Amino acid sequence: MAREKRHDILFEPIKLGPKTLKNRFWQVPHCNGAGSDKPGMQASFRGMKAEGGWGAVFTEVCFITHDSDIHPWVGSKIIDEGDVRNLSLMCDSIHAHGGLAGVELTHATSFGFNAETREPARAASQIPHEFEPMASARAMTIKEIRQIQREHVDGALRARAAGFDLLTLFVGLATIPQHFLYRSHNKRTDEYGGSFENRCRFTRELLEMMREEIDDCAIGIRFPIDTLPEPFGLGDLGTKAEDEGVAFIKAMDDLVDYWDINIGTLNWGEDAGSSRFFDSNHQAQYTQHAKKASKKPVINVGRFTDPEVMIKAINSGQCDIIGAARPSIADPFLPKKIEEGRYNDIRECIGCNICVSRWEKGGPPIWCTQNPTSGEEYRRGWHPEKYIPTKNPDLPIVVVGAGPAGLECAMTLGLRGYNTVHLIEAEAEIGGHLRWVSKLPNFGAWKRVIDWRETQIRTKTNVQIILNNRLNYQDVLECGAERIVFATGSNWDETGMSSLLHDYIAGADASKPEICNPEQYCVHGKKLGKRVLVIDNDPYYMGSAMAELIAENGHEVTYATYGETVGPYLRLVLEEQRMLMRLLELGVTTIHQHVAVAVENGNATLVDIWKGEEMTVEYDSIMLVTHRTSNCDLYDQLQGSPDEMSNAGIKSIHLIGDAHTPNVIAQATFSGTRLAREFDSDNPDQHKPFIRERRLINATEKDYQLDAEVIKVKPYH
Ligand code: ADP
Ligand code: SF4
Repeated sequence: MAREKRHDILFEPIKLGPKTLKNRFWQVPHCNGAGSDKPGMQASFRGMKAEGGWGAVFTEVCFITHDSDIHPWVGSKIIDEGDVRNLSLMCDSIHAHGGLAGVELTHATSFGFNAETREPARAASQIPHEFEPMASARAMTIKEIRQIQREHVDGALRARAAGFDLLTLFVGLATIPQHFLYRSHNKRTDEYGGSFENRCRFTRELLEMMREEIDDCAIGIRFPIDTLPEPFGLGDLGTKAEDEGVAFIKAMDDLVDYWDINIGTLNWGEDAGSSRFFDSNHQAQYTQHAKKASKKPVINVGRFTDPEVMIKAINSGQCDIIGAARPSIADPFLPKKIEEGRYNDIRECIGCNICVSRWEKGGPPIWCTQNPTSGEEYRRGWHPEKYIPTKNPDLPIVVVGAGPAGLECAMTLGLRGYNTVHLIEAEAEIGGHLRWVSKLPNFGAWKRVIDWRETQIRTKTNVQIILNNRLNYQDVLECGAERIVFATGSNWDETGMSSLLHDYIAGADASKPEICNPEQYCVHGKKLGKRVLVIDNDPYYMGSAMAELIAENGHEVTYATYGETVGPYLRLVLEEQRMLMRLLELGVTTIHQHVAVAVENGNATLVDIWKGEEMTVEYDSIMLVTHRTSNCDLYDQLQGSPDEMSNAGIKSIHLIGDAHTPNVIAQATFSGTRLAREFDSDNPDQHKPFIRERRLINATEKDYQLDAEVIKVKPYH
């Protein structure tokens, strides 16, 4: 299918000072857990995006000095010659695919808590960091300001030496230039504080210095044009788009080649907005002001996955270039697919922010729900669009369960060329738990996990999907497959067992009419009384989502959680504040830091986790959201009967996804592709060795190959 003519504009080159961007796709800076200390991962991860057509591909925040250290969070660094060498690999991998390599030059000011380097930080004024305990900084003298400007220029020169084409000065999220600009962080009374012109002085001088020494790279700014009203932003002490946002752009425009515009503060859930709370292009109301103030190309972000939304943003004069972090993670080949008119192949980001949560956890390698190869390009050698063909295409395989894990596994097996794969599902529709979860309020985008995999299976593989077929033990023995994968999922507990009590909740038994779990309510239609107590002992979204749904359905809802606000993982996916506000708006009574210990005769006993004091909540119905248990009986039964299995011709069985261990969907899709990609290894249940990128004594490049002796586990005898 050819590309729609109206999408051609996305592939028009654009000049950025001395550089030319080949199209309008720009992977904005975002973290991946690699930094500059894992050069192989960094280069393969970013190079994959360039291969997929992204015209510009950036690092994450890249720190220029030792006093800008946010350890253990992982950013990259351009502090010395070693960093130059390591990051040059990333530049080479981007250049190999015709992309421009970009770096986000950052000084973290008081956000640099410097746990690793122990160097004290510097700032415009001595204001401790908002939420990082014990992080403060010295208010610089004029001499020290000169020094730090020089250090920025030196960082930029090192970046140029590494091969970067695009040098972005980061003026957002607690950086030195931003601290000078914002009244909230700049309390100086000299020529660097007070008036707007004074607060711009640091950045103008710095850009002038950079320009003086660098004329062969494009220089730009990443700038949140609006720091948003309270409670999500800085209110009057920050920047408003139509006021100082536009004024700052005008004040710097002659010194930059491009503007990478977003919104928000360190409270970055308003920028990386999840799909439950924000639509695609949700920042437009603020970012649209940038182009009116600038004569230079403007980049916008806003979870752009749909080419129609992209061209609208460009044609309406909102921006010139489509910026993306999450859409480029979920589909590194998004630009190529649009370019080639392969619209149905686009793997759209679902806006779940699991990728973000890995950073918030302190920077372990990135995970993505939609793209389980993300972060695995180097260490496992995985490619999101390429699959190693099987040598055994006629092997009869059954995959039981068509949830995210089973779909991903069957799809990958099919794409590897296994021709006799049967994906068998008990229900009338595929999707597993997403059949009903994607119908919860505002979870619609999550259905993309199912839809994309179904399209791939139906259009590109010989995998047979068989519905309405709940396999029992005998069926499995008679199914004729040599190898069987169980992706049979998990179920919400009916007893109140959870990691909080390590025990049952007295009286909690979901076979009683007044006690219910999420599946009973959403799938089987169990009725609830007027007053519903939602007991949320789970860390993620289900408890608060149940409270929201039940309140929307007209019940009087009390929501009780052990957490400070809502399930604590919601903080990591940046949904915590919005979710709590939503419950309050719906009139839900919330009880925090309490654990339910008994539910009997219409009275629930909750215990304050600090004081140990008991309180009673009256209810008509209980919604139990405690934990999930794997649905693995069939697998366990077979594993316990090796002779019957062998008589039936079954050579091996495997367990993946929630059926193995209940977790987030990203782990289900990962487990599905991992098994399918390693299906022909000696022991596919065990992960094949992967490259652990670390310092190896006397290592050569060869030691960092997947088949290198050094990563093999040697037997003891
Ligand atoms: P995951 O997230 O690990 O993919 P899900 O719970 O979303 O798990 O999906 C599991 C799927 O397996 C569900 O659609 C369920 O109906 C299906 N399933 C469970 N047991 C059987 C069985 N015995 N036969 C066929 N399908 C099954
Ligand atoms: Fe999008 Fe979720 Fe993947 Fe992040 S983890 S890129 S939000 S699908």
